Parts: sequence; C-alpha cells; structure tokens
Amino acid sequence: MQYRKDPRSGNQLSQLGFGCMRFSDNLASSFGLSLKKNTFDEKKIENLLVEAVDKGINYFDTAYLYAGSEEFLGATLKKYGLRDKVYIATKLPTMFAKKAEDLDKYFDIELERLQTDHIDYYLFHMLSDMDSWNALCSWGVKEWIAGKKASGQIRQIGFSFHGAQDVFLKLLDAYDWDFVQIQYNYSDENFQAGTTGLKAAAAKGIPVMIMEPLLGGRLATGLPEKAVKRFAQEAKDITPGAWGLNWVWNHPEVTVVLSGMNEEAQLEENVRTADAAVPGMLTDSDLAVYDDVRKIFNDSYKIHCTGCHYCMPCPAGVNIPGCFSAYNTWNAISKSTGSMQYGMTTLLSGDPAYAGLCKKCGACEKKCPQHLPIRENLEEVRNAMEGTRFGAMKVAARLFMHKGRRKKGRD
Ligand code: SF4
Ligand code: SF4
Repeated sequence: MQYRKDPRSGNQLSQLGFGCMRFSDNLASSFGLSLKKNTFDEKKIENLLVEAVDKGINYFDTAYLYAGSEEFLGATLKKYGLRDKVYIATKLPTMFAKKAEDLDKYFDIELERLQTDHIDYYLFHMLSDMDSWNALCSWGVKEWIAGKKASGQIRQIGFSFHGAQDVFLKLLDAYDWDFVQIQYNYSDENFQAGTTGLKAAAAKGIPVMIMEPLLGGRLATGLPEKAVKRFAQEAKDITPGAWGLNWVWNHPEVTVVLSGMNEEAQLEENVRTADAAVPGMLTDSDLAVYDDVRKIFNDSYKIHCTGCHYCMPCPAGVNIPGCFSAYNTWNAISKSTGSMQYGMTTLLSGDPAYAGLCKKCGACEKKCPQHLPIRENLEEVRNAMEGTRFGAMKVAARLFMHKGRRKKGRD
C-alpha cells in the first residue's frame, strides 16, 4: 500500500480508503434511517474489513446516515482489536441538526455506535451551502469544535461537499478546516468543487479526500462497450475501474481516494492498483484515452445519477435511481435491455415505482447531491420508456403481482 501524508496532522494515510456506505449492493436497503437490521452479508463484510486492514488500508469512512455502518465498523474493529491501527472518518448529519444541542446529540450517538472515545476525521456531512454553515455558526459551532478538539474527541475537522464550485471556495475560506472531502472523477473534472476546488484546498495545506472516484461504480462496470474497448485498446490488463482510480491518484493534491468495496475481488484489484499508483504517472497518451472515454461516456449516459439514494423515499413511490439506471442502460447499452430493466425495477420489485407516478412535489431535488433536475429527468424517462408496450406490461404485472399476493395469502 502507498501512503500519502496528511500535511496538516502529519498522519500517513493509505491512499486507498475504505468507503463504508456500500456494504450492500442493495443500496435501497443499505441506505435508510429506519433500518434497524443490517441487510448485508455480515460475515463477508467483516472478513473484508479485516483483510483491508491487513493489506494496509488505514482510513475508513462512514456516516451517521449510512444505516448500520457505524455500528458494524465499530463492532468489527473492536472484535479484532484494530481500532488503534486505523483512522475513522465519520459525519455529523448536518441536514438533521436544527439547534445547538443536536451537535452533541449526534456526536455522542456516533461515538457509542463506533465504540470509540474519539473520531480521527470528523465531517459535517454534505455541507454544501453558506446558509447551513451560517446556521451552524449561530449555534456556536466554532466553539463546539474547539471544545471537542481540546478534549481529544475530535482530532481533525472537515466537511463533505456536493455544491457549486464558488460555494466550495467560500466555505473553504470560512473556517480553518483540517481537511475536506469532495467528489472527483474523470467524467467531469469541473463538476462541483472540481479541479479548482481540489487545488484551492491543497494550496491551504490541507488533505483532500475523494469520494465517488468511480461515480457510484459506473466508471468501473457501467461504461458503454465502446468506452471499454477504448481502454482495452490502450492496455488490455488494466480494468476500467483501475483506469478510473489511476486518474484520481495521478493528482498530487489528492490524499485519500475512497472506494466502497463489498467483494473480495474488488478489494484485491483496488489494492493492487493503489500499490502501483503515484502522482504524475499518466502520460499524455494515457490522458488522451480518458478524453475519448469521457466523450463516449457523457454522450451515452443521459442522466448522471450516482445511485446514492439520498433522494429516497419518494412519497409517490417512484424508484428514482432505479428509473434513471434503466434509462441510462436504454441509452448506453441497448433499448431491449433497458426496457427489461425498467419493467423489473418499476413493476416487478414490489409496489409500482415508475416515473409516471411522479407528482412533481420537488422534495427529492432538495436532497440530490448531484443537483439533478429530477422532475424534468423523470419526465424524460416517462416519455421514452412508458409507451404502449409499457402499458401492456403494467396490466400484466398487476395481474401477476395480484396473483402472487393471493397465493402468498393462502400460504
Ligand atoms: S418530485 Fe416526484 S419523484 Fe421527486 S419526491 Fe416528488 S413525487 Fe417523488
Ligand atoms: S437522483 Fe440524485 S439523490 Fe437520487 S440517487 Fe441519483 S444522484 Fe442520488
């Protein structure tokens, strides 16, 4: 494993960090506040976490909002006596904090869940506008941070960001942060904080942690065939996922790249890639390949949804990320595969969840870190995917589901 120095604290951090949001492939169930019971394969994830430490990963990123994640990480680190070998990053649910007392309330819950007496890297989750920061300040957040640091309960303080670049620069200047966490990948280096934000943070001498380096996995496994071929044409033995991570590690301003890993093969490949990645390693010819792939990707993927599920649940029952994923498949892979995926996701996975159900209340758009015009995008999905054939599928699905429920009732 290669380590990059946190210039603020001097900590040596593994350049590959373990993102603990995606313990399960089923994000709809791994991300939900009401969820009490873990729906992921606990033994598998436990082994993976232990193996990750064994392979040199020492930075683990979780959040209050990732259901079951803090508890599971805390319990696993304790069980194997690993707490002192790793840095824990977790996040205060900024969007839930409504008064000064909430800071302590959530922080204390997080310490308890993680079975620890301190957080190494503590973030204000999705602090992406000045109003939220001003509200925190009006509750005395600066004094609160100073107190927590003096007591040793918080070692480094930062924020994760999903807003516009100019806001990022303002937030960066608004406080003497110890680190920041931004979204960054080759699909669009000017999106959100972007390269400008990355360089501005690094210029302040603070580490920058990167989330969504593979855009929710789409740059690893969801690339159009033409893009996969373009990568392979350049180097057969490097996977699209490794290409994606290498692009981020190529930047000397980057400290830790977070990857949500829930399969051993993924962990092994990422560690292998991290072992070899160094800043400035990409050649002009490599960078030209990214230009080609970026163009293919952006032309074929209509909606840049990462599948994070922050927008869910929808009061009208729409499976927002499911609709977008099927629509992207429809555009990027094939119309028949996309239609089938759309039917499976929105008609056969429980209650109807298709785009046409949207009541346009706009609640989802306020929560989307990618700032997608979700209502407009759902309209686009509805127009493309919900034609006559979909109408027939709806009738068939109604009969099928109804029959299934009656049968289940008898059983
Ligand atoms: S705008 Fe539509 S999709 Fe979004 S929460 Fe409202 S009903 Fe659901
Ligand atoms: S629409 Fe936005 S909030 Fe919802 S899953 Fe996609 S990126 Fe996440």
